[in-house]
Amino acid sequence: MNKRVILITGGNGGLGQAIARFFLGKSTDDVVCLGVRERRDHVDALASEFPGRVVVVTLDVTSPDAWTAAVTEINRLHGRLDVLVNNAGSHEDSLLAIMPPSSWDRVLGTNLDSVFHGCQAVLPTMISQRHGRIVNISSLSALYSPAGQANYAAAKAGVIGLTQSLAKEVARIGITVNAICPGYIDTEAVAGMKPEEKSAAAMRVPMRRFGKPAEVAAAVHFLACSDAAYITGSALKIDGGLL
Ligand code: NDP
Repeated sequence: MNKRVILITGGNGGLGQAIARFFLGKSTDDVVCLGVRERRDHVDALASEFPGRVVVVTLDVTSPDAWTAAVTEINRLHGRLDVLVNNAGSHEDSLLAIMPPSSWDRVLGTNLDSVFHGCQAVLPTMISQRHGRIVNISSLSALYSPAGQANYAAAKAGVIGLTQSLAKEVARIGITVNAICPGYIDTEAVAGMKPEEKSAAAMRVPMRRFGKPAEVAAAVHFLACSDAAYITGSALKIDGGLL
């Protein structure tokens, strides 16, 4: 059986789209389920480009009920769920001294609570299959902890802790759990940077450029494939040598 069912959260965003395209391009059998909150223009375009192979699911990743509904729907449609990519995320940068508690809560909610709820939602299916791949998108900020990102750095470091702990819990039942820590990647999320900020940031990267979304997608795809069966609990940096 070659068909795999892959659920990617934050499917309308830059990395979500790149990851979806990578899976769709590498296999004609894979079905990609893209979680969306509100914006869905890119997801709808992808669904038209790959008819029958893209499923759009409404999924606010901070809501356990939304997770249950999404996974139930995927199981109803396809009877299986092979790969979960916890990709949705957001940041609200501010110095900690003046950070509104609501900003702390939102960033922890979208980046860390979401991964907890997502893993809980898919585990019953993956455990019954005795097979599954979970790839959590963390960030280089988890390891580098920049000033102005206490909420985001804490959330993304939490993602690595959760990843390593869960990896040990499910290693014996054919499920791997890994994290990816991208550095600067050229998506809409960094489009807000001024050109001079962007070139100064690129100069700090030993490769002197930002990463391409497809370069992160390739790593996600590899961690989800059978050749990566012995890799679990890892946190892979993709940062052009920055750290
Ligand atoms: P984008 O902002 O382009 O995409 C983020 C996606 O997450 C959007 O589709 C957004 O939905 C979705 N999202 C946010 N909150 C929720 C929620 N509560 N429920 C469901 N979906 C939600 O960012 P990227 O594609 O660049 O980032 C993807 C991941 O990669 C994030 O986890 C980010 O932290 C991480 N990352 C990115 C880096 C970069 O340089 N780009 C570097 C390191 C890590 P909507 O469109 O509706 O807002």
